[in-house]
Amino acid sequence: MPDPLDGAALRAALREAVADPARHPLLVALDFDGTLAPLQDDPQASRVLPDAVTALRALAAHPRTVRLALLSGRSMGDLHRLAEVPPGTVLIGSHGAERARVAEHGLDRAVMTLTDEQQDRLDGLGGEMQAVARGRDGVWVESKPAAVAVHTRMADPATAEAAERDALAVGGRLGSAVLHGKKVVEVSVLDADKGAALSALRAEIGAGAVLVAGDDVTDEHAFEAVAPEGLTLKVGAGPTSARFRVPEPQDVADLLADLAVALDEAAAG
Ligand SMILES: [Mg+2]
Repeated sequence: MPDPLDGAALRAALREAVADPARHPLLVALDFDGTLAPLQDDPQASRVLPDAVTALRALAAHPRTVRLALLSGRSMGDLHRLAEVPPGTVLIGSHGAERARVAEHGLDRAVMTLTDEQQDRLDGLGGEMQAVARGRDGVWVESKPAAVAVHTRMADPATAEAAERDALAVGGRLGSAVLHGKKVVEVSVLDADKGAALSALRAEIGAGAVLVAGDDVTDEHAFEAVAPEGLTLKVGAGPTSARFRVPEPQDVADLLADLAVALDEAAAG
C-alpha cells in the first residue's frame, strides 16, 4: 500500500505538521535497529548513522515543537549504551517494558519490578531457551530484564528455522507476549508491546502529531496504535500497515535532517 518510495509525501506531511501550532508537539518515535542503525550480524556492532546523530541533535534544539523517543526491543542498558541521542530523548526498551529519559549525565529511569510469578517464568524461560540454542551453531540467547530472546541471524537457514520453531513453542507455554521478528524470537513475561507504550507516551506529552518509523513486524503494533492519522514509516521491504515507506536507514536520516531544516525555518519565522 505505501507509496511512493522516495519519502517525498512524508516530507510534505511533516512540513505541514511543523507549520501548524495546533499539532505541536510532534512526537518523533523511532525504532533503533534497521531504522536509525543499519542491521548488523553482531547486534553489539550497531551504530546510529552519523547523519541521523546530527539530525537528532538538531531536532532536540526545538523541544517545544518536537519530542524525541526511541522505541526498541533492546534492553534499556543496551539501548542507552548504543544510541547516541540527545538529552531529553525518551528511551523505551524491551518493546515497551522499560522506559527512561536521557539526562545530561546518565539516565532518569523508571524501575521495573516483576512479580514472583513473572520472575519464576522468566527463570524458566532462560533455562528452556538455553536448551533450544544448545548444539545449534549460530543460535544464541539474550537475557533481558523481562524477556528472553533467541537470536538466529548467525545460523544457517535450516538451523535458524528449527530453533525459531522450538523457541515459539517455549514461548507459547511460558510467555505473556511472543514476538517473532527478523531472525529473533523474543518471549516476554510482561504483555508489553510498542503500541501500548507509544499510546501512553503520546497521551502523556499531549502530542498533536506523531511520526513513527520502524523496519520490523514488532513495529506494526506502533503503526496501528497511531492509525489512521499518524505519520507511519516502514523502512525496507515487507508487508506493513504504515502509510509511507523508504528503502533504508539512510533515508530515515535524510528525512530527519529535512525535518530539522523545516523547524529551523519555522523558528526563524
Ligand atoms: Mg528494528
